[in-house]
Amino acid sequence: MDDKNGSSATVSEDDTNIEVTSLMASLQKIFNSRLFRFAMKRVETPRKLEHIVGVYAGILEARGIREKTISYLLQKAMSKSASRFGFAEESLKEALKDPYTRKAIANILMGIAKFGITRPQKLCAPFMIVWNFTKQCNLRCRHCYANAGPHPAPDELTLSEKLEVLRQLDEAGVAAISFSGGEPLVNKDFWNVAKRAAEMGFYISVATNGTLITRDVAKRLKETGVRYVEVSIDSPNPEEHDEFRGIPRAWKRSIEGIRNAKKEGLSVGIAMTVTRANHRQLPEMMELARNLNADRLIAFNFVPTGRGKEIIEMDLSPDEREAVLSYLYEELTAGKMQVFSTAPMYAIVSLKNIDKGGKLTPTHFAELSVPDEYLSAGFALGEFLGGCGAGRIYCSIEHNGDIQPCVFLPIKVGNVLRDGFLNVWYNNEILHELRDRDHYACSHCEYRYICGGCRARAYAYYGNVSAPDPSCVFNRDLWNELTEEVEASE
Ligand code: SF4
Ligand code: SF4
Repeated sequence: MDDKNGSSATVSEDDTNIEVTSLMASLQKIFNSRLFRFAMKRVETPRKLEHIVGVYAGILEARGIREKTISYLLQKAMSKSASRFGFAEESLKEALKDPYTRKAIANILMGIAKFGITRPQKLCAPFMIVWNFTKQCNLRCRHCYANAGPHPAPDELTLSEKLEVLRQLDEAGVAAISFSGGEPLVNKDFWNVAKRAAEMGFYISVATNGTLITRDVAKRLKETGVRYVEVSIDSPNPEEHDEFRGIPRAWKRSIEGIRNAKKEGLSVGIAMTVTRANHRQLPEMMELARNLNADRLIAFNFVPTGRGKEIIEMDLSPDEREAVLSYLYEELTAGKMQVFSTAPMYAIVSLKNIDKGGKLTPTHFAELSVPDEYLSAGFALGEFLGGCGAGRIYCSIEHNGDIQPCVFLPIKVGNVLRDGFLNVWYNNEILHELRDRDHYACSHCEYRYICGGCRARAYAYYGNVSAPDPSCVFNRDLWNELTEEVEASE
């Protein structure tokens, strides 16, 4: 991937009739029973639980009495939640034929078994990983968080090391991997590793600048098992985009890449980092996305990190951001396209307006259609999925195997090869801190479990992951102080 993006290239809900995230959220209460959690704790590994989920769906055979018993309990819980939340169990079983869906369900069940229901939910392994596969990129974007360049970094992983990372993610029970960068499509190992990951049942997506997606590349992506491609476009205006990207004709090539991906039947999203320079162009971007028949538009929340530090004055004020989020939510409810934001306050905006659109966006990559009769459950669903996912339901892996809570949060909490992925996930102090909303700067806010503020922005501005997020409308005073500081330093 070319730029600052990274945490969104995720799961396109078009793939199954059941929205996996919606299902997971709605099942929480039912699966928190003591008996169920006791049974789940007897399942030693996520792989075994994935198998049991397959037994429940009627597509795999139980391997012994324990699996039979647990799948029976699962059956009971699923039937109960189906009648309570109004979904057809048969559609769920159909969806579970997809190994990714089994991974996703197993991931959340393991989390509930281990931690119980927490606000927001903690998981035994991240639901999704953004893997910054290489530092190499063919563009030079001004806002690049990865400081990517024309060559791979000297410490990039070898192919066998990358496969070891994959093995550990599979063992941990991760459900989805988004390949990002740099530009993942320039890396020689990308195809090999992506294919292997798809065979292992991960949901595979790619965050890319799109300039290299010829018709043949698009076809190959599809054949490799990539399901979703996210292409970064900064402006509907080609000159502005090219100027920002540092390469002539980049816009045209990216648009061509989007068209090629769509022609090959890939699900495609357009990612735009929203700043003062382009926020007024959002309606035009929406129009462009619609004309390209994109499946999703995602507005990235600008985080002044990496090369983004140099354009800190481009950051939106809290009120500008709120206006952007309100606009995005209107578009989400008005049209067929998914419209997301990586600002965690988007969850609050959707919750406040849920009676208008019936849609909840409780984290960066989830859109829940909440039926009228369940609108009151919106708050609980929001608290379950919880806005910022950094170090809780998601984390990133760098080109050298280093683990970060988020691509925008440049704190190395460990290294997959040196420390072991699960060891870091369970034991790192920063990750624990990120999961505890009662001790953030947001701890007095009624929305702390729903939003939590962008921890990367807190860190970028204050050097502390628990600090306030200055993009929040409740933090206008802090924003004004910061603005004065930036102006004074200029
Ligand atoms: S105080 Fe924190 S949790 Fe509350 S709205 Fe602001 S950023 Fe979100
Ligand atoms: S820190 Fe949280 S809210 Fe900010 S970009 Fe990362 S996951 Fe999103």
